[in-house]
Amino acid sequence: MTTPPKPSVLLIYTGGTIGMIRNPETGALESFTFEHLSKHIPELKQMDCLISSVQFEPPIDSSNMEPALWVELVKIIHENYDRFDGFVVLHGSDTMAYTASAMSFALENLAKPVVFTGSQLPIGVLRTDGKENLITAIEIAHAKRPDGTPTVPEVCILFQDQLLRGNRTTKVNAENFNAFRSPNYANLADVGVHINYYTRRIRRPDASLPMKPHFLFDTNVVVLTLFPGIQERIVSEVLKMKGLKAIILKTFGTGNAPQKEWFTRAVREATRRGLVIINVTQCPSGSVEMERYETGRQLLEAGVTSGYDTTVEAAVTKLMFLLGHGYSPEEVRRQMNMSLAGEITLESDRPLQQDSLS
Ligand code: ASP
Repeated sequence: MTTPPKPSVLLIYTGGTIGMIRNPETGALESFTFEHLSKHIPELKQMDCLISSVQFEPPIDSSNMEPALWVELVKIIHENYDRFDGFVVLHGSDTMAYTASAMSFALENLAKPVVFTGSQLPIGVLRTDGKENLITAIEIAHAKRPDGTPTVPEVCILFQDQLLRGNRTTKVNAENFNAFRSPNYANLADVGVHINYYTRRIRRPDASLPMKPHFLFDTNVVVLTLFPGIQERIVSEVLKMKGLKAIILKTFGTGNAPQKEWFTRAVREATRRGLVIINVTQCPSGSVEMERYETGRQLLEAGVTSGYDTTVEAAVTKLMFLLGHGYSPEEVRRQMNMSLAGEITLESDRPLQQDSLS
């Protein structure tokens, strides 16, 4: 009898606290190589899978992450897609939610796990959370269902004891090990003695479609947060900015804004000129419903598009992704109102979402 081949996982080390060491002169944490990292986790050799690795040169603090590096990541996954059962991306936690969101759009028809993880304490520190995160992420990246298909064939974030859909996440804590939340979509798995997968919440890809990588992001977008007292001059300047193609307008509550004549006029003029304006609530959880109050309806009438229950991270990266295709403003607005990778909850998804939150 022949033994089945061991599953294989590609570890992509981009940088982040997990692999950092303290600079003895400045005291600041600086990125270090993968070799350094693996030396501190001899357990990797005991895992029941073959692990290969590649690293960014140089590894970076994730505050230095940018769309050109997202493209690098897409290329690495695309070039190695057929050779591995799953991928683990080691990434700084600061912008992990952006990169995970970007990957969820750029890796169309993804049918294998891409698990992001990192840590709040470097791997060389005694109380590090990095070791457990990395080992669990590798386990998830090659986990299979009884029918042999991957258990989590989507882009996700594993941090401490939670597995979250990548494009639903946001970093909520700069200190706690439990640094991420998925405010509008329930966990894909909880990690304890066992890894408890919630299969019905996990995306099922169409296995007949090949994975299609995308390499273009257009960064002509901006996030504008409303607050009481925001000035006409500033709003007008932002809306008229040269080259700007899309704005994420962070509104109050269910998508509401001040009822000022100058404000609605400026917004209406901007949408008519072809600027895409996406309404995203400032509340950490819940959805935009512009029909609910007069203060929201005025935005709808001025041509603003609902961002539903999106995170800012997903909205920013989705806009860059859609604008990268060179789509017309109408097409960008249309696709912002569709769920491309499970990033928003539409009316038609609500029964499922209720169920998944219970
Ligand atoms: N500044 C670090 C980074 O995002 C923090 C972390 O890794 O958690 O790269």
